[in-house]
Amino acid sequence: MSTASEIIQCYDCGESYQYLGRQHHPGECPTCNSHCVSPAGEVSILTTVDVSAGEEISMVAVLAIDECRRRYLYHFSNTGGEARLLALRVGDQTVRSSNESTIPALPAAISSVVKEYLPITSIPHDSKD
Ligand SMILES: [Zn+2]
Repeated sequence: MSTASEIIQCYDCGESYQYLGRQHHPGECPTCNSHCVSPAGEVSILTTVDVSAGEEISMVAVLAIDECRRRYLYHFSNTGGEARLLALRVGDQTVRSSNESTIPALPAAISSVVKEYLPITSIPHDSKD
């Protein structure tokens, strides 16, 4: 596991690259120097919060950290019964996705907790399936 290469996605410029080092990637995009990049290693869920309006869940927030202890805060809205990523903060920076290539791919750990609340069907994901 520790020698496996990691795919890093930059949420600012959309660049994806493979990190081949033995340690976790430094959390910075080499192209634009943004720190809004995908998590290093496995993410751990710290907490989830769901907000309900009446009977229905209207929002789910997931706070997670990666193996470099960077914090990722995901906000999902309930859009027509599906979880949709509304906003993402990496550390203290807010990701502003401007086009399709910068839409953050969700780590499996994040998808699985969100699915406990709402089905995720509208978020582009890594092409693993
Ligand atoms: Zn970048």
